[in-house]
Amino acid sequence: MENEAVSKNFIEQIIDKDIAEGYCKKVVTRFPPEPNGYLHIGHAKSILLNYGLAEEYNGQFNMRFDDTNPTKEKEEFVDSIKQDVEWLGAKWHGDVLFASGYFDEMYEAAVKLIRKGKAYVCDLTPEQIREYRGTLTEPGKESPYRNRSVEENLELFENMKNGVYRDGEKVLRAKIDMASPNINMRDPILYRVAHIPHHRTGDKWCIYPMYDFAHPIEDAIEGVSHSICTLEFEDHRPLYDWVVRELEYENPPKQIEFAKLYLNNVVTGKRYIKKLVEEGIVDGWDDPRLVSIAALRRRGFTPESIKMFVELVGVTKSQGAVEYPMLEYCIREDLKLKARRMMAVINPVKVIIDNYPEGQVEYMEVPNNQENPELGMRKVPFTRELYIERDDFMIEPPKKYFRMFPGNEVRLMNAYFVTCVDYKTDEDGNVTEIHCTYDPQTRGGNFEGRKVKGTIHWVSATEGKQVEVRLYENIVDEEKGVYNEEDGSINVNPNSLTVIKNCYVEPELVKAEKEDKFQFVRNGYFCADMKDSEAGRPVFNRIVSLKSSFKLPK
Ligand code: ATP
Ligand code: MG
Repeated sequence: MENEAVSKNFIEQIIDKDIAEGYCKKVVTRFPPEPNGYLHIGHAKSILLNYGLAEEYNGQFNMRFDDTNPTKEKEEFVDSIKQDVEWLGAKWHGDVLFASGYFDEMYEAAVKLIRKGKAYVCDLTPEQIREYRGTLTEPGKESPYRNRSVEENLELFENMKNGVYRDGEKVLRAKIDMASPNINMRDPILYRVAHIPHHRTGDKWCIYPMYDFAHPIEDAIEGVSHSICTLEFEDHRPLYDWVVRELEYENPPKQIEFAKLYLNNVVTGKRYIKKLVEEGIVDGWDDPRLVSIAALRRRGFTPESIKMFVELVGVTKSQGAVEYPMLEYCIREDLKLKARRMMAVINPVKVIIDNYPEGQVEYMEVPNNQENPELGMRKVPFTRELYIERDDFMIEPPKKYFRMFPGNEVRLMNAYFVTCVDYKTDEDGNVTEIHCTYDPQTRGGNFEGRKVKGTIHWVSATEGKQVEVRLYENIVDEEKGVYNEEDGSINVNPNSLTVIKNCYVEPELVKAEKEDKFQFVRNGYFCADMKDSEAGRPVFNRIVSLKSSFKLPK
């Protein structure tokens, strides 16, 4: 279909062409995180893109840890990353793979390059290597060790492997072109000596391959057809191609770059999130104010909402940041028909209905979601004493205020029409209780006899339950921008978390299980916190308010 072809992204177009030309027989993609931190929303884009392509083309999606750098990697991160990928719904083929599982093949590949005269052991110090490399405007200088014989290189490289040298004493380098305009091609380092134990291979190796050498080999071994990465690797592609060509792989993988996903005024970089965690500004990597996948999940975002977001953003080669409200739009859309709409009063003030019988409990039959009858009905207790939101009452209302004020009649959602007849205040003038009368004829709130302009929600003061609710704002002070220009620290918003202990909810909400999501009418979408909720004592995180500042472009 013509429309379909037009809407394909540039990567799908490349794959279509590769299939048509017989270059690609099976689409194999992978997600290759370094296990050195938690995944964030940007990684979700990469995961869903790679997984989505494998699905679309009936191919294969591999989950592979790029664990070639033993200094920063930890098993803890392996587990959290696997969990996040699973939660997003990306199903990988077979077992989880590890780059370190190919260290033998990589060593053999290096030996092969030496034999071909394409790699050599170099004794220059790291400073000298940098100096010899040249600059963007000046060519580099050849290393005096560049023309060692194959035999000598084989022996030295074996010594490197056998622990004869100290860290930094020798490296293995590709022999390409010190005058190349692309600095990555100026005899890049392939292997370095590092006497550091590895989280999977232990003390077996004291030499480790560099990313640019290791990655294409990992891809080629796994039969990856399209190795999708982000734009900063574009300049590394010639080296990627050089490695797979010189190693003579039969079906060489192809690297394709796309633009990273950035959110405006949101901290995504691992380094910065780590800082917020270490300084105790947030409560761990899954603090609901962060955009790590674990945090988004804890806040209440769904895999479907993240998928929708990633699709809306699209796949391009041009860098650009996306607004956070777009992500909020996606979770609202996802929960609109799925979530039950319940009553919760976040900032309560008491209402007493003077003419309602004391001790009586009446159960109002209420649809769980007016737009989705499939969610059924529930019963909400109505009593003489209720709570409403403090800002749903004003002693002296401005014009166009249709909620409760002395003398005004309003609708209590799904219940009765009530008229405010009196109120009490404390010595500071704060309203302490409001008195109303109700009209028994208006039960259900849909009375034909007269019209009221305001409808407000409520919770029974005697049957309702008190719970803790957490409201969030951006962790970053948006007025100041993400980073402080002077010292690079993060401009933290002091109001990013508000904890409310005396929120009143209808009894049904107390049954919420961890991760259950609801709309609290007029207040937003909320999720029962997966860490701090207990049976019968849920703690609710506000995922998002109901008001949107994002409009889907037409
Ligand atoms: P960070 O810089 O946030 O620490 P990273 O690139 O170092 O991220 P890796 O574990 O190396 O993290 O990344 C795994 C995969 O996720 C890579 O293919 C990388 O290109 C991709 N990726 C990382 N950040 C983003 C992003 N913001 N948008 C899209 N893809 C990303
Ligand atoms: Mg990285």
